[in-house]
Amino acid sequence: MPNIHFKPGIVCLIAIFSSLSLKGNENAALETASTLAKKAIESSLALEIATDLTTDIGPRLFGSDGEKRAVEWARKRFEEYGFDRIWTEPFPVDRGWERGLETASITHPAPQNLVITALGGSVPTPEGGIEAEIVVFKTIQALLDQPEGSLDGKIAVVTQAMEIGGYGRFSGPIRGNGPSEAAKRGAIAYLMRSAGTDNDRMAHTGATRYQAGVPRIPAAALSVPDAQQIDRLADRHKSIRIKLLLTPKELGTVTSQNLIAEITGSEKPDEIILLGAHIDSWDLGTGAIDDGAGVGVVMAASKLIRDLPHPPKRTIRVVLFGAEEIGIYGGNYYVVKHRDELSKHIIAAEADAGQGPVHTINIGVGNPLDPSLSTIRKALETLGVKAGRAKSRGGPDIVPMSNAGVPVVGLDMFTEDYFDLHHTANDTIDKIVPERINQSAAAYVTFAYLASQLGGYYRAEN
Ligand SMILES: [Zn+2]
Repeated sequence: MPNIHFKPGIVCLIAIFSSLSLKGNENAALETASTLAKKAIESSLALEIATDLTTDIGPRLFGSDGEKRAVEWARKRFEEYGFDRIWTEPFPVDRGWERGLETASITHPAPQNLVITALGGSVPTPEGGIEAEIVVFKTIQALLDQPEGSLDGKIAVVTQAMEIGGYGRFSGPIRGNGPSEAAKRGAIAYLMRSAGTDNDRMAHTGATRYQAGVPRIPAAALSVPDAQQIDRLADRHKSIRIKLLLTPKELGTVTSQNLIAEITGSEKPDEIILLGAHIDSWDLGTGAIDDGAGVGVVMAASKLIRDLPHPPKRTIRVVLFGAEEIGIYGGNYYVVKHRDELSKHIIAAEADAGQGPVHTINIGVGNPLDPSLSTIRKALETLGVKAGRAKSRGGPDIVPMSNAGVPVVGLDMFTEDYFDLHHTANDTIDKIVPERINQSAAAYVTFAYLASQLGGYYRAEN
């Protein structure tokens, strides 16, 4: 910027005029955003989309035919909406997997069936299943404290409960690493209390990941009441035996894909406001709260913006990520594929925490002083969304982007009941309450539209 010297009076007038026109822009954008939010609530479009996806497609396991059909379904839907560019980006997933039979029962001292489900990626039991004595650990730490060889020939059972709000702390060490830690100590199979907060007789699946160089043992989750039953039996009896049969198939490398759909910006087409959700789901239910709801929310928000008489100033890019559940393959691939373009990503948000409502906006940007952020917060306040102080990293699929320096926001949702249904056969569309998902769609459309029209200096260097 050249060093120009104005007389103080002229500088003052310029400042007033430019702030007046900024105010005018801002007011127009706020007005449109509030109309969009109202439409999101009145139309129930997000719920309609989630209903179509979970009914016409059903479960969408990574790499499966269901996931591919879902992508085609979404592509068609975006075409009908009149998006400017729609394309897929395929990528390999090196751990294709398909669920098989899964049964378990206590054979001694009080024979009874157990409700279980294989963890995603689990190897099968030997043909005919295995029957062995179990060793019960009330915490994962109690298992980690055991010496090598102490579980030879046994089935390790971890009955630690997940606390509300404790999913991240629980799922990594217990579901992800638990099987390999048990195998290092000699166990021949691994059972865990489900990562869930319900008391239903429903087991929660979710990915496990075997450590290299450690025997891979079959691994499954018990429903919460079944884990509690084993706890009670272990308090009363010295020897408990379980029979376990799992017949999942490992499919080697399979193909998944991200689906990308854009509304081209009218003034700054190369600047991207990104909305994400994941199109894949676990196979037990129909993936309604995880993440059909998120897909509904971001598709509805972007469709409402598409329907405006004037396109937004910046490009709105919706990414429906593939293969999230088995390890954020789509989110990681996106960053590799779009590395050269990441500096043009102005801000991103993902909807992957159920149906909402959105209660807090937390930001993860380099320059939190950009005035448009306070405008966005103010607009969200009218929907009951508070401004939070936590530093957000966005949703799971946009964490890799956030790590690569893309500014993100977290439109954080009410999740107290999310982990009652998460990854179970009970994750079905009837659980979605219109008022909740509609408020979420309203929050996302408010954020996306205002971010596309205002400010945008969210990076630290600006
Ligand atoms: Zn999810």
